[in-house]
Amino acid sequence: MLTHILGFPRIGLQRELKFAVEAYWKNDISYEQLQATAKNIRHQHWKLQADHNLDFVTVGDFSLYDHVLDWSVRFGVIPQRFHQSQINELDTYFRMARGRAGGKNDQSYLPVNASEMTKWFDTNYHYLVPEFRSDQDFLLNIESLFEEIRDAQSLGYKVKPVILGPLTYLWLGRRSLPIVDLLNLLPKLLPVYVDLLQQLRDLNIEWVQIDEPILVMDIDDQWQHAFSNSYFQLQNCGPKKLLTTYFGELESNLQMVCRLPIEGLHIDGVRGIDEIPRVADILPIHKILSIGVIDGRNIWRNDALKVFNLLKPLVEKLGKDRVWLGTSCSLLHVPIDLEYEKQWDNEILSKLSFANQKLQEVVQLKNILLDQEPISLKAYETFSDRFYDANVQERMQMLSQHSFSRSHNFTDRWAAQQNHLKLPLLPTTTIGSFPQTQEIRQLRKNYQLQRLTEHDYQEKIKDEIKYAIQQQEEIGLDVLVHGEPERNDMVGFFAEHLAGIIITNNGWVQSYGSRCVKPPIIIGDIARPFPVTVLLSQYAQSLTKKPVKGMLTGPVTILNWSFVREDQPRRTTAFQLALALQDEVKDLQNAGISIIQIDEAALREGLPLRKKAQADYLDWAVQAFRIMSTVAKPETQIHTHMCYSEFSDIMSALIEMDADVITLEAVRSKMTVVQELAVNGYCNQVGPGVYDIHSPNIPTVEAMIKRIQLATNSLPLERIWVNPDCGLKTRAWPEVKRALSAMVEATRIVRQYIPIAYEN
Ligand code: GLN
Ligand code: ZN
Repeated sequence: MLTHILGFPRIGLQRELKFAVEAYWKNDISYEQLQATAKNIRHQHWKLQADHNLDFVTVGDFSLYDHVLDWSVRFGVIPQRFHQSQINELDTYFRMARGRAGGKNDQSYLPVNASEMTKWFDTNYHYLVPEFRSDQDFLLNIESLFEEIRDAQSLGYKVKPVILGPLTYLWLGRRSLPIVDLLNLLPKLLPVYVDLLQQLRDLNIEWVQIDEPILVMDIDDQWQHAFSNSYFQLQNCGPKKLLTTYFGELESNLQMVCRLPIEGLHIDGVRGIDEIPRVADILPIHKILSIGVIDGRNIWRNDALKVFNLLKPLVEKLGKDRVWLGTSCSLLHVPIDLEYEKQWDNEILSKLSFANQKLQEVVQLKNILLDQEPISLKAYETFSDRFYDANVQERMQMLSQHSFSRSHNFTDRWAAQQNHLKLPLLPTTTIGSFPQTQEIRQLRKNYQLQRLTEHDYQEKIKDEIKYAIQQQEEIGLDVLVHGEPERNDMVGFFAEHLAGIIITNNGWVQSYGSRCVKPPIIIGDIARPFPVTVLLSQYAQSLTKKPVKGMLTGPVTILNWSFVREDQPRRTTAFQLALALQDEVKDLQNAGISIIQIDEAALREGLPLRKKAQADYLDWAVQAFRIMSTVAKPETQIHTHMCYSEFSDIMSALIEMDADVITLEAVRSKMTVVQELAVNGYCNQVGPGVYDIHSPNIPTVEAMIKRIQLATNSLPLERIWVNPDCGLKTRAWPEVKRALSAMVEATRIVRQYIPIAYEN
């Protein structure tokens, strides 16, 4: 029974990689220094795996920015705009990732458009989308990976390299070519894999891990056939193949996968726990079954007794040589070490397991299964009373069908709101945040380090709010925001203020490139002991006659960006979050705030990978949102915001949310979202973004006029709002002022040509 992991986090215990890469971009360290840091991190990770007595160290999971981009560069999938003869390979790589390489050599080259980035399956990790041409050629430039392998071998480790499988690699580029055309590239790609596998064998590699996570998705017959054909072509080359699948069950792909000419199959034993016996039955007896029972997606300690009871008979049946144990997927998605979380007591710590602890869990489980360790299996203790809140439970019990609907329908609410707010046609607004300047960040840091008293901190934050309000008045916006200077993270900020959620000291997880996030941990029943945003919202409103939007993060977004307890359905946790935040809606309303925005930026990305599970998710996600908004009086206007341009598969949910106004990212999709809403019978108001905030370029008045007109072609004028695509926190004030002034000017011009009189 061999043990292994599918991959380890790369960012380093103290985020060493982040700081090294960023220093290289700033030209503070050299190419050699960056490579030395990277090597050091790899060495640490291999040593951890070896020290824990795993049977392999996994090599090839490391990356300076993104592992998919690594493969694009290794296969020569480098679009023309990045070809620049004077630039070395690493700088080309960084230019693909971010448009610029930084560093010593970059200054003489113009920035280019970076490759597109999107979510890695249903995780919060982003990969760089391979940009295929329909006549794409592939080559093999693999020396850097081979160097890593030789390096690990020279340290005496038994190496299992990980490579991205050909089908998944092609599929990941589906935003660059129609999905049907992707398979046309396969005949050119496969020879490169043949070559790669043969060279791996020459390095004396016994097993290679080939990642094919698309096997847990609904793939059609054509793709199923492509799988069979490809793996038959790769059959006789290279080391033994461990085909790795993760993030779910194989379902309709199961039979096909079991028949592939491979030596081993890895399945996700956490999300696919119910499928384990079936796979064990069907998988031919000469193949290894690697079971990923230690969860790579969450931070809870594995339930050893449950897993033991499940696996013990299976091991007896298959024989201990045929079963391997591992992590469900790469550990990329969890923080590295609990060692830094001494702020918690033993009860909490005993429930948790980060990457380093998970290595230990894999090996422990093996020892228990092989009777090498006295059986010390405690049934997983459920949460103790201290995480139980009777009041929360009671409120959950009280939920009824009335808890999901506002008292009045949209038409009546609209009339009440219009009467109360007296907004002009095409009201202008922003999405919430204003530039997070160096001063603001320093301010929050000083507060965290307790160099500022609570009072002084609040006063300084108020100054920032005052400034933001003044600027918005000058620009001439109709609905203002306080600017969110007190928040560095829209989820973390609320998590810190809610009971039942704990925050790590050092629980960083890579989001993309050098960016990391610290997901909160939802450990118990959720309540809101004190108002969170009321004082500052009220303060902002006191500074102006125009309405100021209250700004909240929605329950589904908090859920999707956190590590979530698993002793109850996600739906239950979402509803608890919604009830806690409902109190905030009530308090804001009572404090005189008449517009409240509930951001659901992450609603779309929580969509399950399998179609059959999507409707249920959307159903409760919408319900959670509605729990929050039901307490709003008819004259209180509820906004929501989302910033993902692929709205098609959640269109009905957008409508069902029944927000009074929904603001959406729209520029990238050329405003088609408005048309789609109209076609689907959306009757409420919509604010399609009229300029892209991701670019520092100032949008032109003409371009924005066109976009406003485009929107008004699809929906009646009086239901359209004018706003940017998303929050402005990553921008600087001078550009924000110019861009928003142009936006207000564009709106003014469009209004001029409207033959109806409007107030204000
Ligand atoms: N209100 C948030 C902001 O403006 C919304 C962020 C988001 O949609 N990602 O920053
Ligand atoms: Zn957004």
